[in-house]
Amino acid sequence: MARRARRPLVAGNWKMNGTRSSAREVKALGRLVAKSQTKPSCEIMICPPATLVHHIRDAARGTPVRVGGQDCHFAQGGAHTGDISADMLKDAGARAVIVGHSERRSDHDESDAVVCAKAEAVHACGLTAIVCVGETETQRDDGATLRIVGAQLKGSLPASATAKNTVIAYEPVWAIGTGRTPTNEDVAKVHQHLRRRLVALLGEAEGEGTRVLYGGSVKPGNAVELMGIDNVDGALVGGASLTAKDFFGIIAAYIR
Ligand code: PEP
Repeated sequence: MARRARRPLVAGNWKMNGTRSSAREVKALGRLVAKSQTKPSCEIMICPPATLVHHIRDAARGTPVRVGGQDCHFAQGGAHTGDISADMLKDAGARAVIVGHSERRSDHDESDAVVCAKAEAVHACGLTAIVCVGETETQRDDGATLRIVGAQLKGSLPASATAKNTVIAYEPVWAIGTGRTPTNEDVAKVHQHLRRRLVALLGEAEGEGTRVLYGGSVKPGNAVELMGIDNVDGALVGGASLTAKDFFGIIAAYIR
C-alpha cells in the first residue's frame, strides 16, 4: 500500500511534564498550524499527563490538535487506587491512549500480556491504542532487534486490533531522550519487518493499513529525513513536543 493511503500521525508524549500553564504552547501550536500556507497532511496529537487531558483538549478547541492519554489500566473501573481507565481518559477528551511505552515497561514491569490487555481496554471504549515496541541497546548489540520487536508486537496486539483503532510506535529504547537515532537503513529494516508481521497477524488489508510511527530523538532537524523512510507513517515525539516551536518544526515535515 502506498504510504499516502495511511494518513501520517505526529503525536507528542509530554511524559511527566506540564501544568495548566502549558496550554499556552498548545495555543501557540494551533496558531502556527493555522498560519502555515498549506495544511499539514498529518494528524496532530498531544498526550499530556492525565491531569491535563481535559484542559489541553479545551485549549486545542478550534485547532486540528487532538489529545491522547499516556497510559491506562486494563480494567474499566474498580478498586485500583491511583490508576485511571481508558473510559475516564475518553470522558476527559482523549481520542487515543499510548500503551506499552518503554518507560512503563521498565518502570512498572509491564509485560506484553499487560500491554495487550490495556490495548484491548482502549479499543473497548472506542479509542485508538498507540502500542509501543522497541529494543534495548544490549538487544540491538546482540543483533536481536527484529526478533524482540516482532515478539513484542505479537504479544501486545489484542484480537480487537484493526488498522483504524491501532497505531504502532517503534521506539528503540536507547534512542529515547538521548539525541541518538538509528541509521535510516536500520529504521527502514525494522519498519519493513513490522509491516510484514502486521500483515501476518492482522491480514493484508489491516496490516497494510496500520500506521507505524518512529519515535526516539525526533527533532525538527531530522524529521524530514526520518519521515521519508518507507513504512514510517509519522512520529512519536517526547522532548521536542513540549514547545510549540519544536513540535511545529517536526509537523512541518508534512507541509509541502
Ligand atoms: C518518547 O518518549 O516517546 C520519545 C520518543 O522521547 P524523545 O523524543 O524525547 O526521544
